[in-house]
Amino acid sequence: MMEDITELKSYLSVPRDITLIAHRNPDGDALGSALGLRLYLERKGHFVKVVMPSESPNIFSYLPHFYDVVVFDLSHDNARAALKEADCIFCLDFNGLDRVDKLGATIQESEAVKVLIDHHLDPEPFVDHMFSDTEASSTCELVYNFIEDMGDAGLVDEKIGNCLFTGLITDTGSFKYNTRPNTYTVAAKLKIAGVDDYLLNDTISNSLKPKNLRLLGHCLANRMEIIEEYGAAYIYLTKKDYAEFDIQRGDTEGIVNYLLMMKSIKVAAFITQQPSIVKISLRSKGDISVQKIASENFNGGGHKNASGGAQYGSLTDVINKFKKAIPEHLPKLEV
Ligand code: 5GP
Ligand code: MN
Repeated sequence: MMEDITELKSYLSVPRDITLIAHRNPDGDALGSALGLRLYLERKGHFVKVVMPSESPNIFSYLPHFYDVVVFDLSHDNARAALKEADCIFCLDFNGLDRVDKLGATIQESEAVKVLIDHHLDPEPFVDHMFSDTEASSTCELVYNFIEDMGDAGLVDEKIGNCLFTGLITDTGSFKYNTRPNTYTVAAKLKIAGVDDYLLNDTISNSLKPKNLRLLGHCLANRMEIIEEYGAAYIYLTKKDYAEFDIQRGDTEGIVNYLLMMKSIKVAAFITQQPSIVKISLRSKGDISVQKIASENFNGGGHKNASGGAQYGSLTDVINKFKKAIPEHLPKLEV
């Protein structure tokens, strides 16, 4: 790791064309790490572009350069060109090329110097320099440490801080899970750099529209199923629900967590019928690994307590597969 830093320090001592990319359906950590790293690298004199495979939720539009992100789904050519023309590519908040759709092939073919900064389990070795730490709360935590290791902690100001603090908040549910002492150390340093964490939390958490609360009510009242004997629960949404509740990108964020508010529930799933695939979001408490459930059944992965996956097929198929997986991963309870 130290050799990687030494090599990168020398490599980045002259201006480079650098492209940053994070995973499909970018969240606060993907966006915060990319936009924060962008500001830092620009301050070091580099020419930086940020690419995302798909569009970002608008609640993150307060992040600097949010509207300059090149979105592959909207502009295939520009996104591909940004990767092809780069001297150096930073892959942020993802662990395998399948997480960036067709851009995975573009990255693979590129001769750029490739750097990975990530905290997902089982990172694939597709880069020249890997900064993977699966114990980290977020990629944003790791980006802060990267800047620090480059000897540039002094360059982290309120703007970079707001980006990086965003990922800390969103990947820890406002410091409720996934934390380690270093998470708080980084948070403290960002706060010293000028971050207003109260304002950030308010912007991120209290941004719902009436339709979001109506959707939440619908999910909890009409779409929630509990598998009592194993302490599991799921919520599903049909294509019709998507139309009826006018569900847009980001509108279902966080709904899965409500299931874990029940004391007896150890595994929660949120299963949604998308236009061509069925997506599953999984969460767990304690030592139960939903990463295993996601990778064994749903072509997915992520973290021990938060994973996701997707497959073609019917909503019922995915629900049944989930129900079948539960007894393999959870002990039967006395009910
Ligand atoms: P979410 O449920 O919020 O979409 O994602 C939870 C975690 O699982 C995130 O860390 C995300 O990167 C990961 N994840 C979500 N969907 C997929 C997927 O389809 N494949 C893989 N490998 N990881 C996923
Ligand atoms: Mn993350």
